[in-house]
Amino acid sequence: MSYSNLDINRVKIFNKMVFPASSREELLQAVKQRGPGLLIAVGCEKLLNKDPDLQNIINSNIAYCDGYAAKYAVAHRGFPDAQKIPGAYLWLDLIRFFPPETKYYLLGAKQDVISDTVDKLKKEFPINIVGWRSGYFDSEEEVLNEIRNSGADVVFVALGSPKQEFVMDRFYHQYPATYMGLGGSFDLYTGRAKPVPVWWNKIFKWEGLYRQLSDFTNLKRWKRQFIVFRMIYLLITNHY
Ligand code: UDP
Repeated sequence: MSYSNLDINRVKIFNKMVFPASSREELLQAVKQRGPGLLIAVGCEKLLNKDPDLQNIINSNIAYCDGYAAKYAVAHRGFPDAQKIPGAYLWLDLIRFFPPETKYYLLGAKQDVISDTVDKLKKEFPINIVGWRSGYFDSEEEVLNEIRNSGADVVFVALGSPKQEFVMDRFYHQYPATYMGLGGSFDLYTGRAKPVPVWWNKIFKWEGLYRQLSDFTNLKRWKRQFIVFRMIYLLITNHY
């Protein structure tokens, strides 16, 4: 089923079409109903990214609010029930939601992380993993062939953003399946990254800052935090 046949509303924020899902179930139901395509988490960084190719990928697929700013913007555009849906856990909900015979391929993270991820998943779920690979590879073609030969229905792609969105889009056009971008979720799942505590989210509503403080010297991450101030300014002044 193509996106245009899917019976869901979308809301435009910063020229990106976002699905204002009010629950994880509603989102996963739409993903299941839509069939092959990309599932993209959007927060400040992706919303403010002006790359037309990234925008096109977001707008041709299902994008959901994975950040408080995105959620507030969507709520102010007439969808007060929209929820912030944490992508770092949604992929586990997807495994629970999809039929048990679904075939999964996992791509991303360092070798030891992906290997531990697969072991842990097999212990926790009755899951049909048809292939997996670290996110540090030389040939995209080789990875694509492996995915194609595996016959995967769902491909989890954890390469960080926006790299993973471009990779998923290229793969999708050559091998249509459900692709979900996961960022650093495998690191979180295997305990390499710390989850953001609930109390922090209740008080600050700024997950990125918590991750930043846990990874203080990472300059690339600091740059990302400053985007949040720009986002707050644009939301307050209604420029979105
Ligand atoms: N990664 C990868 N290949 C790459 C670059 C990154 O597999 O070429 C992995 C990296 O090991 C980490 C994830 O992608 O597991 C990125 O995590 P991060 O939290 O930075 O992603 P975000 O969700 O913030 O985009």
